[in-house]
Amino acid sequence: MSTRIHVLDPRLANQIAAGEVVERPASVAKELIENAIDAGSRRIEVDIEAGGARLVRVRDDGIGIGEEDLPLALSRHATSKIATLDDLEGVSSLGFRGEALASISSVSRLELISNALEEPTGGWRVTAEGRSMESRVSPAPHPRGTTVNVRDLFFNTPARRKFLRTEKTEFGHLEETFRRQALSRFDIGWILRHNQKVVQQLSPGTDTLARERRISALLGKGFIEHARYIEREVGALRLSGWVGLPTHSRAQADQQYFFVNGRVVRDRLVAHAVRQAYRDVMFHGRQPVFVLYLDLDPDVVDVNVHPTKHEVRFRDGRMVHDFLFSSLHHALADARPQPGPELHQ
Ligand code: ADP
Ligand code: MG
Repeated sequence: MSTRIHVLDPRLANQIAAGEVVERPASVAKELIENAIDAGSRRIEVDIEAGGARLVRVRDDGIGIGEEDLPLALSRHATSKIATLDDLEGVSSLGFRGEALASISSVSRLELISNALEEPTGGWRVTAEGRSMESRVSPAPHPRGTTVNVRDLFFNTPARRKFLRTEKTEFGHLEETFRRQALSRFDIGWILRHNQKVVQQLSPGTDTLARERRISALLGKGFIEHARYIEREVGALRLSGWVGLPTHSRAQADQQYFFVNGRVVRDRLVAHAVRQAYRDVMFHGRQPVFVLYLDLDPDVVDVNVHPTKHEVRFRDGRMVHDFLFSSLHHALADARPQPGPELHQ
């Protein structure tokens, strides 16, 4: 080992960065789907082979990437989504770090095919190989939109490949990622296939019926039956979604979805507010189910807390907490034991 300081090869630098965001095939799908959403797609198809170890493919009909931008798409710190610190502070796209494609590409065989034009004969294919990860672009027909094929994840990082679980387990994680994304955008049509078999097919629709149909497809028929729909707006905070009645609790916290500006998050402050709201209606040890959407000004929430962006920081955490607690507490009011008449005497 040399003791001199030197700059790492781009591939190795990207592989190190990949350690933070690319844990398994499901993390690849998450990043690719987020890109498809950011591209304004109306329809997103996800194809998986062998639990994602062989192939994760995401195909969209979004804006595509222009020929002149393609060589940059797979480079680290290259993004079309922000340019200044101001942009970062008010960011409303799901991505902005410009790292996902570079990271994934460094630990798999990634090819991106895209067409930003209406002519279906247009289209270009880009890959980045070798230690320098220099992009190679060649013509390839593709309808308007983008397809990303990620093959043989971790083929060149055996230590990570060892951590992949069975096909069934990995596909379970992929399904969960798909479920979260499909719950985040009812206006998008979705397809999920595993080994060429359709696992989920969800048509777009934002009216109540369409949304409830999608929830039933993703979370089971019982969910809507035992949930209450809520909608509440106070100042710049808006909460909507379904809160499960205490009669429909679960042993595990496996049907709890909380979206902040369309991004699924796991947040301690949110979890605490929900727990408090259910405290006196839920049997000890049982877990509530919910699908909730909190929307607020992007300026008052920081999403750049962790590379996976599963965490957020609210500027006024207390206000958000109290708003959530009071909204849910109110929604669960008639599930709460009513004080008997004798108490009113
Ligand atoms: P980020 O999403 O943080 O910008 P990525 O590495 O995920 O970084 O993607 C790099 C860039 O490639 C994006 O900023 C976007 O311009 C482009 N891109 C990636 N995927 C798509 C897609 N499906 N449709 C259109 N553009 C895309
Ligand atoms: Mg991205």
